Amino acid sequence: MKTLLSNAYVVTMDDEGTEYADGWILADDGLIEEVGSGAPPPAEHFENLGGALATPGLVNTHHHLFQNLTRTRAQQADLFTWLRELYPLWARLDYPAEQAAARAGLAELALSGCSTVFDHHYVFPQPDGVELLSAEIAAAEELGVRLIAARGSMDLGQSKGGLPPDDLVEETDEILRTTEWAAHFHQKERGARIQIAVAPCSPFSVTKELMMESATLARRLGLRLHTHLAETVEEEEYCQGLFGCRPLEYLEQVGWLEDDVWCAHCVHLSKADVLRFGTAGTGVAHCPTSNMRLGAGIAPVQEMLANDVRVGLGVDGSASNERGDLLLEAKQALLVARARGGADALTAREALRLATRGGAAVLGRDDIGSLEAGKCADVAVWSIAGLEFGGADDVVAALVLSAPHRAYRLYVGGQEVVHDGSLTRADEHEIAYEHALQARRFLDD
Ligand code: ZN
Repeated sequence: MKTLLSNAYVVTMDDEGTEYADGWILADDGLIEEVGSGAPPPAEHFENLGGALATPGLVNTHHHLFQNLTRTRAQQADLFTWLRELYPLWARLDYPAEQAAARAGLAELALSGCSTVFDHHYVFPQPDGVELLSAEIAAAEELGVRLIAARGSMDLGQSKGGLPPDDLVEETDEILRTTEWAAHFHQKERGARIQIAVAPCSPFSVTKELMMESATLARRLGLRLHTHLAETVEEEEYCQGLFGCRPLEYLEQVGWLEDDVWCAHCVHLSKADVLRFGTAGTGVAHCPTSNMRLGAGIAPVQEMLANDVRVGLGVDGSASNERGDLLLEAKQALLVARARGGADALTAREALRLATRGGAAVLGRDDIGSLEAGKCADVAVWSIAGLEFGGADDVVAALVLSAPHRAYRLYVGGQEVVHDGSLTRADEHEIAYEHALQARRFLDD
């Protein structure tokens, strides 16, 4: 059915950065047919957006949904201290907890205008960990958002020089076997709603063998690769001690400095490292709030963009960024870029581009991230009638600079997921209640 979204200020995020002040979007069968302004084309169903702002649905490129069960822990800690405090709690994770966490996290993101979520799940305390991915996929299907779920992994426990406790890591062979099994969830076609990525956790929790075997497996199966990299100074020291090289050199040694890979954080990259990321086509998930929360530093995003590095945004897990709001993350990216590089470092539109087109590019998706003919009808709609927009002479800049805002509407593949600031397919109060019940199990006795 042809649906027309009309009477909107449309920010397309196409190559030219086209915006339509009196704009409309025509969608059919989940795809955008046409975007324009002035007299709208005929349609079968009409939605008047009442002068709201329409942007592409936002894309989250790094998250750990399960971590919203353990917010506000280790409040003054750096990454390693924080992880050491949290690992034992995460060992309690099971299907009901993951289900509650995924529903809550995906709901929170959808209400922030996020239509596509990548989740890096790497904690599988019980055998046959694929069940936890099933919980996430069921939650995404229930709420109506796109999900790229990672079969993440850790196989380097403390006894072998790794950071996580031995009882939280898995056997390498078991990881590879269940990763291959998880690949059956992966949809290859344009407009895919569920995809799988292969994601060993980090240099300090994964063996070199698993990094290399994961790359071989992912490339055989046509899946993308993801990991954490160069997040903190301590990680660099750890890498030197364990592997005798810096994180980027390690990435290259294991065959990961490639264009089917994206890495979270990349705070501590040298100028030469940034150039190599750009040349290789390796993507970056920039997570400014989490990096500030853990005192990790500020990623050199301006340098990355100047060297053609693909950069998207990630809220990261809610234990290191208590707010799962991708629009807020765009504002944070703008603010930290300016704190680091001066007042002209990142414009509001550039920050919004990172949250949309940038994220799509990082995930290897050319069917989302902009409002153009042939792309998925993933549209975030923002009311500009609120107090926080008053006096603004540029509503696009206001959206970012006065963030966060609850999405007024969210369409994913043409289907309405958020209407008037509420989920259409689930009750957020019920989700919050179920989440609270599960989260209690993660409190210290
Ligand atoms: Zn992370």
